[in-house]
Amino acid sequence: MDFTLYNTLTRRKELFKPLRPGMAGIYTCGPTVYLYAHIGNMRTYVFEDGLVRSLKFLGFGVKRVMNITDVGHLVSDADTGEDKMELGARREGKSAWDIAKFYTEAFFKDFKALNCLMPEVLCPATDYIKEMTDLVAALEKKGFTYRIADGIYFDTAKLPDYGKLAGKSHIEGIREGARVEVNAEKRNPADFALWKFSAPEEKRQMEWPSPWGTGFPGWHLECSAMAMRHLGETIDIHCGGEDHVAVHHTNEIAQSEAATGKPFANYWLHGRFLIMGDTGKMSKSAGGFLTVSSLPEKGYDPLAYRYYCFQTHYRKQLEFTWTGVEAAARGLDGLRSLAGRLKEEVAGPVPAADRGAKYFQDFSLALADDVNLPEAMAVLWETLKDHSIPAPRRLAFALAAEEVLALDLFAEKKGGELPAELSALIKEREAARKAKDFKRSDELRKALSDKGVLIEDTPKGTTWKHTRG
Ligand code: AMP
Ligand code: ZN
Repeated sequence: MDFTLYNTLTRRKELFKPLRPGMAGIYTCGPTVYLYAHIGNMRTYVFEDGLVRSLKFLGFGVKRVMNITDVGHLVSDADTGEDKMELGARREGKSAWDIAKFYTEAFFKDFKALNCLMPEVLCPATDYIKEMTDLVAALEKKGFTYRIADGIYFDTAKLPDYGKLAGKSHIEGIREGARVEVNAEKRNPADFALWKFSAPEEKRQMEWPSPWGTGFPGWHLECSAMAMRHLGETIDIHCGGEDHVAVHHTNEIAQSEAATGKPFANYWLHGRFLIMGDTGKMSKSAGGFLTVSSLPEKGYDPLAYRYYCFQTHYRKQLEFTWTGVEAAARGLDGLRSLAGRLKEEVAGPVPAADRGAKYFQDFSLALADDVNLPEAMAVLWETLKDHSIPAPRRLAFALAAEEVLALDLFAEKKGGELPAELSALIKEREAARKAKDFKRSDELRKALSDKGVLIEDTPKGTTWKHTRG
């Protein structure tokens, strides 16, 4: 089946042709681990997981590489301001290394709670300093670099197609200095740091010797160095959020292609942002953001957020509201009930999924059409409700679809004994719901969730499961 992807580089949908037949090499920009990831970041990771799983579903082998930015990402994308890691260390009175460790673990806890598959290769930037300085040396040899007081910079004027990813008008804006803060010493406003020197009066926690002086890598450098180290000089697919188009990915392309003379990535995929319904943009540096743990705190299964993300195509902006999460949670419950009932109904072995059936084809076509998960979910809903299809076949299809959607459609409700105090709260909540006292019932849902018990209302009544292990 033809797989088409929307390529930011060419601004159109293209047939996906991997460099090695049947095998997709994917690089996805990972988290900057100085703080918790917010649910906006997680939208991008859920989209990337949908892409990886869709490729696997359609028969591709996948090698996904993801970096962990644990050094060098400065507060401003214009290579100025403090290193976010050092900022985190100061904020929490810990070492930058401890901050990186703590938030890397927190990130993967959230990543797994959303059923994202672990990448085949994970690479913390601080493990690849050698690859990065080698890349700077290669660029220096080819004449793309120059030195100013605070570091070694890339001369964007030396690369004729600099900025091709973001488009001409945008780059003209950068050239005029509209988008990046101007460092008077830079030759061109768009030039960016490859290697930054530790300031003479400063003792950084993270710094390394280099042929140019002690310092640390520029943020963009890590992705180029690690992507090429693990996937070769040209990679198939490179992903990230839309904010990366203008600066980060533009500069990754510049330094990689200047060094190798080859295309860096053949397909560039960008997820649009999650925005907050009332406050607009969600960002880590602005503070006051929601994390994956905010979901169980409000009594929701984190996978309701995965479902929520899949209801909107990744190239459309998604507005976050709690009403939307509530609707997604209900949708997820409904889908789980349908799947659960089918499992009860079908006694004996489950047949193979009927890959030739129209619903199976429609589902696959949706995935192959630029990862159209909203459409794939609609096909699943319709098929599970269609009694003209024999139940065993519907069950087989749901099991196959679960490989892509990963919504725990067949999760056993975790039952068992609850302490009397908690059972009493559940009973009280059921009574409140019957009496249509939703305010009280929500309070009780929250109280139970604070104690690690997640409530689900199903057609058969209220069920519960533990949220913490
Ligand atoms: P960071 O940890 O800031 O480097 O970002 C990690 C990933 O989240 C990157 O791919 C960003 O493009 C993406 N991202 C940041 N903010 C949002 C948002 N509000 N919605 C979706 N993706 C985002
Ligand atoms: Zn990157």
